[in-house]
Amino acid sequence: ILVLAPEYFRPIRNFASDYHASLDGKNALSSILNLVGKSDDAPAETPLAPWSETSKLSLRNIGFAYAEHPTLDNISLQACGFKKYGIVGASGAGKSTLVNVLGGFCTPDTGSIDIDGKAVSDLRQSDWQKQVIYIPQDPYIFHATLRDNIAFYHPDASAEDIARAVKIVGLDDLVKELDQGLDTVVGEGARPLSGGQAQRIALARAFLDDSRKILLFDEPTAHLDIETEMDLKERMLPLMEGRLVFFATHRLHWMHNMDQVLVVDHGRIAGTGTLEDLRSNNESFAALAALSEWTDKR
Ligand code: ADP
Ligand code: MG
Repeated sequence: ILVLAPEYFRPIRNFASDYHASLDGKNALSSILNLVGKSDDAPAETPLAPWSETSKLSLRNIGFAYAEHPTLDNISLQACGFKKYGIVGASGAGKSTLVNVLGGFCTPDTGSIDIDGKAVSDLRQSDWQKQVIYIPQDPYIFHATLRDNIAFYHPDASAEDIARAVKIVGLDDLVKELDQGLDTVVGEGARPLSGGQAQRIALARAFLDDSRKILLFDEPTAHLDIETEMDLKERMLPLMEGRLVFFATHRLHWMHNMDQVLVVDHGRIAGTGTLEDLRSNNESFAALAALSEWTDKR
């Protein structure tokens, strides 16, 4: 089985549609990726309305296994409106897999997902995916100019919009430092970027695309030093306003900024509630908190 990390296949898929790759190629790609939903060539039955303050997403009894390895076990949850959901759990608990299911990047083996009462499996793949921004631990940077990397989901962005996004995410110092500024070619084999700079590009992409109201973060700061993380945190929080957010991380300080925390333990939801609720009443959460306190002190 070919298993690609979504940070790779998402851009590939977008490339396939953005650059008018042959339909055959595109369909082959979606079958490899096992994206949830119907092919984009299927007739649209009822179009999915843009995610709004009154929208609801429900996962019911979701199960998922990689080959024979059970990973998500009977997960049910509801998310609504512009709330922020933190996803915490030990390494290997299933956080990334859950984020992939939420983004429609993999099809669960059992259970159902619906949005405002519509089954995601009946929607066309792009109906859901064009509403989602996915920000992974290592965002993919193309061998292309800094400008094209930033404008990736939004090729028509104006120079003013790009300049504004650059400033908001704190890439202005880098742009000044480069001889060719935004025209500098970055990515593999070209000007290398630090993890923090790559993450700033991913955020700039999100700032530019205001139409996507669902933000999925998967350990976006795991590789960053604490100073960079705190700088990015200040820049990321405003980006989360007016959007539905799922934020998977093992850095618990983010949970102060979430409306609800989901604790994942061995592929199950072992607790949901506010940070305060979980702190006093949840064993799985207490174990994580104790461990992170221990690591923070070292
Ligand atoms: P987390 O993000 O909480 O660390 P993951 O969702 O990445 O957890 O992984 C959950 C479990 O699924 C782990 O046991 C992991 O080894 C397994 N797993 C994750 N991705 C794959 C994959 N692509 N192929 C096979 N097993 C996988
Ligand atoms: Mg993970």
